[in-house]
Amino acid sequence: MTATTPSRTGVRVERLPLARFTTLGVGGEAEVWFAANHAQLAEAIEAPYRVLGGGSNLVIADAGVPERVVRLTGELAGRDLEPDPALSTDTEIVTGWVGGGVPLPGLIRTLQKLGLSGLEGTVGIPAQVGGAVWMNAGTRYGEMFDGLHTVEIVTPQGTRQVTPDDLEWGYRQSGIARGEVVSRVRLRLTRSTPEAVLEKMTHADEARKGQPKMKTPGCAFKNPGGVSAGKLMDEAGLKSTRVGAAMIAPEHANFIVNLGGASAADVHALLDLARERVGVPMELEYELWPERG
Ligand SMILES: Cc1cc2nc3c(=O)[nH]c(=O)nc-3n(C[C@H](O)[C@H](O)[C@H](O)COP(=O)(O)OP(=O)(O)OC[C@H]3O[C@@H](n4cnc5c(N)ncnc54)[C@H](O)[C@@H]3O)c2cc1C
Repeated sequence: MTATTPSRTGVRVERLPLARFTTLGVGGEAEVWFAANHAQLAEAIEAPYRVLGGGSNLVIADAGVPERVVRLTGELAGRDLEPDPALSTDTEIVTGWVGGGVPLPGLIRTLQKLGLSGLEGTVGIPAQVGGAVWMNAGTRYGEMFDGLHTVEIVTPQGTRQVTPDDLEWGYRQSGIARGEVVSRVRLRLTRSTPEAVLEKMTHADEARKGQPKMKTPGCAFKNPGGVSAGKLMDEAGLKSTRVGAAMIAPEHANFIVNLGGASAADVHALLDLARERVGVPMELEYELWPERG
């Protein structure tokens, strides 16, 4: 289908380079389906698909992916933060619906200004709400499931609304299956003050000081057996190592950055080199699209 092919629901479809939707700035073309409401999302996921959020945990191949890539826009990227009077109290509020396509950093800033506490520990995570909920993104200061009331999940079989108690969530996992789309959520937050929320955010922000400011998909490897992957990579002399325009960050060895014009092949080569030099099995933190054997 091209940009001009009409769809049943009017969903916008374009063949686009995926690099522009990722924080690493790498990735070839795919057919992107911009789902602006539930009907469009239902149509978008009628054929094999992948959901793309903020693209902050992905390395997408230079050849792109063969499946449809679904982006949540329009109503599914809108937010209603008004307290629901039936569910809110003097101390706690439950919001209206917040779309899975809402950028998390902007939402966290707004909640701070409103003096609503619960999600400020996730400050600095460059995700969309849906992607962050899907993997329960967080820091040592807090995680997405600290502030959820309801999660709406869309699959080709239909839509269901669940509470956190219905899900087997835990450390960096939501219990929501791969391919199930987090379309919207309602937040459960505590009434606080902008100053108090800001102070909590400052601690989480401080912890990011050593991270590189360049294009990156975040940490490359999980810590093997509790040992810091960054420390192992540093000890293996990997800081500032380059392949093409991809580099292991001089500030922090567990971050690969794009110096400008890096390819996915450059990044894959650096990941392979790091594993070989460190000599300890290290599991990737981010996802490769398509998966590599
Ligand atoms: C600079 C930097 C700092 C980071 N710091 C942290 C941190 O402190 N803590 C942390 O946990 N992570 C961190 N990350 C990693 C990343 O932000 C998280 O993994 C985040 O949850 C990814 O969300 P996303 O919307 O970008 O998802 P994407 O990268 O777009 O996708 C990742 C996965 O989520 C799925 N997905 C995306 N949207 C949806 C949806 N609506 N419904 C269902 N599935 C979906 C995708 O299909 C894919 O499988 C960091 C990344 C960067 C670049």
